[in-house]
Amino acid sequence: MENLSQVKELLKNSKRVCVLTGAGVSAESGIPTFRGGGDSAVWKGMPFEKISSAEMVEKDLDAVWEWFDHRRALYKDCLPNAAHRAFTLWQERFEEFTLITQNVDGLHERAGSREILELHGNINHAKCVDCSGIYRIDPQIVPHQPSECSECGSKLRPDVVLFGEMLPIETFQKAERRSKRCDVFFVVGTSALVYPAIGLADLAKYAGAKLVEVNPEETPMTSFCDFSLCGNAGDIIPLI
Ligand code: NAD
Ligand code: ZN
Repeated sequence: MENLSQVKELLKNSKRVCVLTGAGVSAESGIPTFRGGGDSAVWKGMPFEKISSAEMVEKDLDAVWEWFDHRRALYKDCLPNAAHRAFTLWQERFEEFTLITQNVDGLHERAGSREILELHGNINHAKCVDCSGIYRIDPQIVPHQPSECSECGSKLRPDVVLFGEMLPIETFQKAERRSKRCDVFFVVGTSALVYPAIGLADLAKYAGAKLVEVNPEETPMTSFCDFSLCGNAGDIIPLI
């Protein structure tokens, strides 16, 4: 693969590297992608845009948890794959390595990546609806525990960015800063349709970084990238 050797060459002289991952990076772990559908597009007759919305947290938090616990049950036996594991080595290899993910499955964390900029939250974290205290919930325990805030006694909600909500501002700003100053920016396993996450790749490119895409299919990003590595993340990332 000509592009692969060029990307390896490029990385030899790169100090700052950013990676943005999407649902495709977890496909080989058995988690359906967004557009891959799976059995997660509709929950009890309700489209997931509705059940995963800020409005539903207000109206029926128990139903929201039921849906998220259903997803947690689907994810709980899914293990990090070769791509997640390879990225844990990248964090040792570069002067500055930034892993940004749109995924909520927590698999980068389970693989051993340290500082992960989770733009859409994490399905195994819960947040107090009043004081915003954050709780880790054990991926193996479904339904989730705890269900109340130990500080103020209020209810907990999934710490996931729902439809109708803003991305976590500090996390996003950090991702922007890192994107603007990296030498190489990787877009891995994302359909490149979800803004503002994919806008980070634009920021990087305009600031002078090389863009590399890893995806078995073409996306709106492909023609904008300097290198396109066509294939599964679990095969390609370890080769890099
Ligand atoms: P998407 O489903 O829109 O696109 C997935 C992309 O991955 C596609 O372009 C597909 O060609 C590619 N792909 C499929 N298999 C791959 C593989 N083995 N290796 C590399 N690429 C592969 O996903 P998205 O762009 O991440 O956007 C969907 C949104 O839904 C995100 O905001 C995300 O938060 C959410 N989501 C998350 C998960 C998860 O946490 N695992 C799962 C589904 C959806
Ligand atoms: Zn609280």
